[in-house]
Amino acid sequence: KSKAEGRCRFHFFEPALQASAEARRLLEFDLRAALALGQFELFYQPQLDLASDRLAGFEALIRWRHPVRGLVPPDSFIPLAEELGLIIRIGEWVVREACAEAARWPDGLCVAVNVAAAQFTSGTLISAVTGALLRSGLPSRRLELEVTETALLHDDGGMTLEQLQALKDLGVQVSLDDFGTGYSSLTQLRSFPFDRVKIDRSFADDPAVVRAVAALGNSLGMRITAEGVETDEQMQRLRDDGCTEAQGYLLSRPVPAGEVATLIERLGLLQGRRKMGAEVG
Ligand code: C2E
Ligand code: MG
Ligand code: MG
Ligand code: MG
Repeated sequence: KSKAEGRCRFHFFEPALQASAEARRLLEFDLRAALALGQFELFYQPQLDLASDRLAGFEALIRWRHPVRGLVPPDSFIPLAEELGLIIRIGEWVVREACAEAARWPDGLCVAVNVAAAQFTSGTLISAVTGALLRSGLPSRRLELEVTETALLHDDGGMTLEQLQALKDLGVQVSLDDFGTGYSSLTQLRSFPFDRVKIDRSFADDPAVVRAVAALGNSLGMRITAEGVETDEQMQRLRDDGCTEAQGYLLSRPVPAGEVATLIERLGLLQGRRKMGAEVG
């Protein structure tokens, strides 16, 4: 009887497993062609400077416009792209595209680009970044690269830190992304003179953590961005707790490049209104 049950279970589960392996193969096939087909797009999410209430810049966030699946979010394909080694070429496209776009924005606005761990081991990151800056004419100080703790954890022989330093020497800003979600965060923070720490959005409602990280980051001369700010209350608290920038749905969701100009205008107007409100009140 138990044998029959086992067989039954086997028959029950096998098609599902086959389907997921098949789905993965299809995704992989499409992903290999996506770059050549021009199916990637960058969306941009604003970052607000909390001292001045001014727009500081945008983070570039990749999307895959798939003809059948629609707009695919990065968490659904970046891990596979990393696994397949495609992230190197995709990452080069991202930095080129982001620099070209940012070069059209008002001077002073920065663009932040996410860099995957594998890009550091490829040996082509520095030349890709230099090339993107030269082609676009974007001043290096207006480009920021975001790395996660994972990239530093797999840093064999200090290669990643060496390249981060080379990027800083170019005048590019370097920030530590998703702070607090990885393993051994404090070690990572101490291991390199980051320009910025981005506190992961899972801590937006944890004032004790935010205050501690902000105090530590500030004492190390770093700027502190709060990620995932969704309410006015959070924004006020994060400002009081020592964050220097805020990013989140409260300001705006990530928008396509074509909507950036309108967003710059809207946030500029918002700033004007805040100032007036402060003067009147
Ligand atoms: P990340 O770099 O930490 O980016 C922030 C993510 O949080 C974005 O998700 C953004 O849309 C989302 N977010 C922003 N504000 C809020 C909020 O108020 N509430 C909530 N719930 N979420 C918010 P997205 O665009 O889906 O990107 C996810 C991750 O994919 C990024 O996390 C980053 O690690 C990775 N990624 C995105 N673009 C690239 C890229 O060009 N290259 C690489 N290597 N990774 C990328
Ligand atoms: Mg990021
Ligand atoms: Mg993040
Ligand atoms: Mg993240």
